[in-house]
Amino acid sequence: MDSKRLEDFRKKLEVRRRNLTETVTRTRGEGRTVIEDHPQDVADLATSYQAKEFLFSTSTQERRNLQMVEEALHRINEGVYGECVSCGREINAKRLEAVPWARYCIECQEKIEQGVLQDQSKTTDEAGETHNEAV
Ligand SMILES: [Zn+2]
Repeated sequence: MDSKRLEDFRKKLEVRRRNLTETVTRTRGEGRTVIEDHPQDVADLATSYQAKEFLFSTSTQERRNLQMVEEALHRINEGVYGECVSCGREINAKRLEAVPWARYCIECQEKIEQGVLQDQSKTTDEAGETHNEAV
């Protein structure tokens, strides 16, 4: 891939990363407000619980998206951006335009959806985890 196109993708991904970071931070704050504002209100408990569940699932999904965007930016730095992480073939240009953080070519993506191929993101999740708790 030529550097001009690579820079375009990098910009797209950085904008996406900023938006996602804002969403994740905001969602986390709202979730806390819901719990802290109605700790003893029984009537609101169900609503509060549903809101919490909703916010939790939203932020989980957003965090996951954020991680994929960060991985894509990492692949740009590594010089492997645009290659399928499974088979190493180039990801279709149109697919990258639509999904700049795509890790797999369309063939591998289909195999994953059919359960033929294993999604390698689980290993990445574990490797990317940091433990900051003091012992
Ligand atoms: Zn592939």
